[in-house]
Amino acid sequence: MSTTTVYPQVRLKPQREEPLLNGHLWVFSGALQQVPREVEPGGLVEVRSASGQFLGRGYYHPHTDIAVRLLTRREEPIDAALLRRRIRRAQELRRVFDPAVTNIYRLIHSEGDGLPGLIVDRYAEVLVAQVHTLGMERLLPLLVEPLLEETGARGLLLRNDSQARRREGLALEEPRLLAGEVPPEVEGRENGVRYLIDPWRGQKTGFFLDQRDKRAALAKYVRAVVAELAPEGVARVLNCFSYTGGFSLVAALSDGRVRVTSVDSSQSAMEAARRHFALNGLDADQHAFVVADVFAYLEEVRARGERFDIVVLDPPAFARNQGARSQALRAYRRLNMLGMSVLRPAGILLSCSCSGVIGLDDLSGTLSLAARALDREVQVLEVLTHSCDHPVRLAMPETLYLKAIFCRLLW
Ligand code: SAH
Repeated sequence: MSTTTVYPQVRLKPQREEPLLNGHLWVFSGALQQVPREVEPGGLVEVRSASGQFLGRGYYHPHTDIAVRLLTRREEPIDAALLRRRIRRAQELRRVFDPAVTNIYRLIHSEGDGLPGLIVDRYAEVLVAQVHTLGMERLLPLLVEPLLEETGARGLLLRNDSQARRREGLALEEPRLLAGEVPPEVEGRENGVRYLIDPWRGQKTGFFLDQRDKRAALAKYVRAVVAELAPEGVARVLNCFSYTGGFSLVAALSDGRVRVTSVDSSQSAMEAARRHFALNGLDADQHAFVVADVFAYLEEVRARGERFDIVVLDPPAFARNQGARSQALRAYRRLNMLGMSVLRPAGILLSCSCSGVIGLDDLSGTLSLAARALDREVQVLEVLTHSCDHPVRLAMPETLYLKAIFCRLLW
């Protein structure tokens, strides 16, 4: 038995359907010709071109630049079954992970997994969700059961504390248990490295899962430095904005002759980093853990003439919107100049940006300006973006936020 739901219709202005036909999922408010009065904020709508062509169905927000986010481009109902299919499809993609090696990853990456406004991260047996939009907030009750059933997870925690919610008129909330149990600390594995994740209080949902492949890529450069310096030498790695030590652990585990300095302004992140070293059988006392502002710390290191073989720069997003771009570019440039100035000749720099409004060209332009100011040459070795658990829709390149450039500095 099937009941046919009628969705209020949203009509586009002439010639505004092209992006949607290409697979984009957003309708900007400026593209709307006519908005139905009977739709509640966050309610479901059907989008049609000026000539009446069906384009898709999604949810509507009357006060944001993005007026509609599509959940489907087919004439099918938006119901629990559709949400379950999306979850199942996402889960299938994550079969790339061997749970014996990696059991923490992003399960649902918003638009990339066809569920705009929803993030779900998996930490071993538990799921942590974040809802960024009003429309997804309204669908959330339909998501709980399929999320648990399709993944076999033991618990689901909701972390609605992202600043992005304010744009949608949504309140920032305390963590809330939606189902089952979620302990204060979960042990998980990423590429065989053990981590203790705090899903309730950790930053974002507890861990920066988007750097997994960049962490893995770092290991070979560390090993190369060790080989170059062998037998007595030690490889000195500086991990700036280390959080709980992801890059630091990979570096330290690559070889016993590695000394890692981790720097982060968060005291609790640094304590977690130290515990992670012990958890992975490393002697934390052989390494340095510094709670400091990275900019101030790099100035100090430069002033005392200390140099590193490898420097990792993984700052928080300096720009959250277009308006903050030029200020952010200055901050990236200063940071990269400082990072380069504490590298030894032929040292390796990993420079990252997770600001959506800063493109790969912006980041490489920043490196270029910094290198020029210091009279260095830059060899680009590897450029990485998201990995497969953070899929990006081909038609929505602007949702690709993470850029990571591995390079070697010569002079
Ligand atoms: N590289 C980390 C993730 C970094 S997220 C990983 O692989 O897990 C950014 C980190 O920068 C956060 O831990 C935050 O506490 C820290 N941070 C933000 N501003 C800072 C500053 N000015 N100096 C030092 N740390 C800072």
